[in-house]
Amino acid sequence: MRPLIWFRSDLRVDDNTALSNATRSADDGAVALFVISPAEWKAHDYAPARIDLMLRSLAELSRSLDALGIPLLIRAAPTPEQVAATVVKACIDSRCDAVFFNREYEVNEQRRDRAVIDALRAKNIHASPWHDQVVMEPGSLRTGAGNVYTVFTPFKRAWIRLAGEQGGVEPRPSPRKVASCDVRPDPVPESVAGFECPRAVSTLWTAGEKHARTRLTSFIEERGRAYKDRRDIPSVDGTSGLSPHLAIGTISPRRCIAAAVAANAATKSPLDAGSEGLVTWISELIWREFYVHIVSGFPRVCMHKAFQQGTDAIRWNDDEAKFRAWTSGRTGIPIVDAGMRQLAATGWMHNRVRMITAMFLSKNLFIDWRRGERHFMTNLVDGFLASNNGGWQWSASTGTDAAPYFRIFNPVSQGERFDPDGVYVRRWVPELSSLGAEAIHDPSSLSPLALARLDYPMPVVDLGRSRLAAIEAFKKLRPA
Ligand SMILES: Cc1cc2nc3c(=O)[nH]c(=O)nc-3n(C[C@H](O)[C@H](O)[C@H](O)COP(=O)(O)OP(=O)(O)OC[C@H]3O[C@@H](n4cnc5c(N)ncnc54)[C@H](O)[C@@H]3O)c2cc1C
Repeated sequence: MRPLIWFRSDLRVDDNTALSNATRSADDGAVALFVISPAEWKAHDYAPARIDLMLRSLAELSRSLDALGIPLLIRAAPTPEQVAATVVKACIDSRCDAVFFNREYEVNEQRRDRAVIDALRAKNIHASPWHDQVVMEPGSLRTGAGNVYTVFTPFKRAWIRLAGEQGGVEPRPSPRKVASCDVRPDPVPESVAGFECPRAVSTLWTAGEKHARTRLTSFIEERGRAYKDRRDIPSVDGTSGLSPHLAIGTISPRRCIAAAVAANAATKSPLDAGSEGLVTWISELIWREFYVHIVSGFPRVCMHKAFQQGTDAIRWNDDEAKFRAWTSGRTGIPIVDAGMRQLAATGWMHNRVRMITAMFLSKNLFIDWRRGERHFMTNLVDGFLASNNGGWQWSASTGTDAAPYFRIFNPVSQGERFDPDGVYVRRWVPELSSLGAEAIHDPSSLSPLALARLDYPMPVVDLGRSRLAAIEAFKKLRPA
């Protein structure tokens, strides 16, 4: 058999289920394929930073595959509908008789993959989809009543129980070197029209699975144990920074969890006991799993619908000026502006600040969370539908296991609590850098003269009044 391995959001040779299995069946060489699909990427609002990281990682993947005897083909599909024909043609041209790939669970991806499987069958080519994107396959965890879990804590308990029954979280066997074949690899493009990434952003993100593994090791060894205490402080490098790699698959969630477990091996139950830092980190990776299971079990969340359908009746504010103030980091609320500027400048934002900025948009400005979700996606280097949608619907109180609608963060006190000295705000909002810790999170409390000296806006919204208005609007949806 000569398999074709179709890479999508799994750009690695390590711990890759489809690749590992394909090379075990390859007795006449193997070929790899990546499809450049700009219309599909635009429809998914992928950020230039994410595409840039993906292309640079693909170049490294091509070299790693070459060392295994597998040439990587690059083909273009101008529209999503052309993907199926593109895969079939690549397969026929390279005389492959099976296509191996790892499943993706979003609605459009599932539709695309069904079309590909049908098109392959029509040509008598075997399709071999594998489960890989999360550790526990969507559908494998069910409540006692047989439903998809919609609350995180019981999901996590069931997840850990199943991992125990399966003997832990083990990465897949390494792929085998295959007999070389007469197919030549294609050059990987450096950029794709419509996704040009500014150099200043591109240079921030080192591409490829080798770097992702190094980052994993240094995080586990140097920062993992302190994660619980440091993960909420946006001015410190307290988290793994692996989200861009998990999004494009230059590292697998199994590899991450296995590394945390190995470092926590002294305890009996290393997934949820032992080092508080490491088990908290594992728990965050299980949130990622939870949201992928939600996307798979409730496809409406991929179609711009609220998980809590009643909240679709909310009449959000259509205030363009306020939305622009939010996107450009000029709301007059320092921690919000710092986060939005970090996103614009780097393609990434700290998790605590993602929650603060998302809650500010959806509760204080009362602007539709879908607009914020889209803005994030079009800018994030780690844009990942399941986690982005999950995070936004959590913040807007429209999602599964979401923040209760009456528990609205006050962004000023959040800033004072998680950035007490103002280090994060000073880094991203330099016009406030002369302020001391006592005023930096609320410059509107300064005297008019002191305020006038700063080139910084007054808050675009009254935090107290907007909070009460949001609670009232939600209350109307759920009469007591
Ligand atoms: C409004 C909003 C939007 C978000 N959008 C995305 C997104 O598009 N892509 C994305 O990967 N994450 C998203 N997150 C989750 C989280 O903010 C990022 O995963 C995290 O900041 C990435 O940094 P890290 O890799 O250093 O995380 P770490 O703290 O080191 O965590 C390790 C990994 O666990 C996963 N993870 C951590 N926190 C969460 C979480 N709350 N939900 C789901 N998975 C989590 C991520 O894969 C992360 O890389 C969003 C959160 C919010 C509140």
